[in-house]
Amino acid sequence: MSLVVQKYGGSSVADAQCIKRVAQRIVATKKAGHEVVVVVSAMGDTTDDLRDLAQQVSPLPPPRELDMLLTAGERISMALLAMAIANLGQTAKSYTGSQAGVLTTSVHGKAKIIDITPGRIRKALDEGAIAIVAGFQGVSQDTKEITTLGRGASDTTAVALAAALDADVCEIYTDVDGVFTADPRVVPTARRMPRISYAEMLEMAACGSKVLHLRCVEYARRYGVPIHVRSSFSNQPGTWVADADTYQAAVEKGLVDAEAAEGVEMEQAIISGVAHDRSEAKITVVAVPDKVGEAARIFSTLATAEINLDMIVQNVSGVATGRTDISFSLPREDGQTAMNALAKIKEEVGFEQLLYDDRIGKVSLIGAGMRTNPGVAARFFAAVAEAGVNIEMISTSEIRVSVVVDEDDVDNAVAAAHHAFELDADEVEAVVYGGTGR
Ligand code: ADP
Ligand code: ASP
Ligand code: MG
Repeated sequence: MSLVVQKYGGSSVADAQCIKRVAQRIVATKKAGHEVVVVVSAMGDTTDDLRDLAQQVSPLPPPRELDMLLTAGERISMALLAMAIANLGQTAKSYTGSQAGVLTTSVHGKAKIIDITPGRIRKALDEGAIAIVAGFQGVSQDTKEITTLGRGASDTTAVALAAALDADVCEIYTDVDGVFTADPRVVPTARRMPRISYAEMLEMAACGSKVLHLRCVEYARRYGVPIHVRSSFSNQPGTWVADADTYQAAVEKGLVDAEAAEGVEMEQAIISGVAHDRSEAKITVVAVPDKVGEAARIFSTLATAEINLDMIVQNVSGVATGRTDISFSLPREDGQTAMNALAKIKEEVGFEQLLYDDRIGKVSLIGAGMRTNPGVAARFFAAVAEAGVNIEMISTSEIRVSVVVDEDDVDNAVAAAHHAFELDADEVEAVVYGGTGR
């Protein structure tokens, strides 16, 4: 008997019909002899709708109340799913994040999981029940307030629970058939990857592939939890996110479909995929005096404001002026805070002005084989240039090259890079079953 954690995203539980279909899948897993813990997201676009509603009553809702409101979304789907399962003759019990023992830090809207004490979940399983847990939420260890874990974080609830319960696998059910070489909504000829390593998936998620929440991949790697990404709308084999040994262990436990396992390459491809991200903005600090300590002053101001920067570019200073421009990218949602913080040090640093641009997008090429294959960056830049797209910023890591381009050029640049590295499938195999991509 295995312990399986299954997570169903918003599009998989979008309406009553979907919830009933998901209930059948869960019951089938239980009847196959497994212990089942389910993590659910809010139905469809409920989280966005609740946020819009909050905006209508207050432009700046108190973070505590916003979390109270948003956690209701997952509570609706967990209770409905438990009812649908009961209707199929199985016992299911739903639990809020707090009841499931998800203990977090106290920052509303982006709390981090500190620990999970899944006593009640374990007990429910021991009694033969299916446990259903509301994703994306917990309770602060210090303040005892209800918190949310950030957009898309039900994935993280699921993997963290899988680690705490020592589950054999964490299945993430979504509206596509697995992890593809690019977002199937942008590149219809994207190919499904049968397996991807934790390191590559971490880069994909960090670069905007929202099929998995970044922190869930970090968690999975740290605790060696194999993640199986699949569609709740089909029976396709999906993608295993696991390193070779973790994957092998899953094969030996019989968790991997035998036919699908044959197609899994254990060698690393040079390029695994192309990711894109439209959630960033760019700030340019114009004409910064080229003196010792100015960059430190600018970036420590941003650090104090708790802003995570992504790319940073400093130009060579003009000989005549002794001044230089510094540009950096950051999450759009932090744009205003960053501009306010920098405006306060304008006199002290002596720069001329601040420019803000949120019409940008980031396109990243990811692949572990890049380490040992020179020329990847050159081929990437050439492909982007051939598509007529101008590159505004560049950054690299060992297994990634990213460029910032105009927001309107993102789709073209993604398709060009995907094509240049011969990632396209011969036939269209990427089906998007649901969701609005919002
Ligand atoms: P859920 O509601 O199930 O959590 P999400 O919308 O968060 O679903 O994530 C699934 C979506 O991720 C897909 O519909 C797809 O548009 C997007 N996506 C982005 N990059 C990829 C990729 N490389 N492979 C698969 N899906 C991707
Ligand atoms: N419902 C939350 C969101 O829309 C969490 C999740 O779906 O993962 O962000
Ligand atoms: Mg998601």
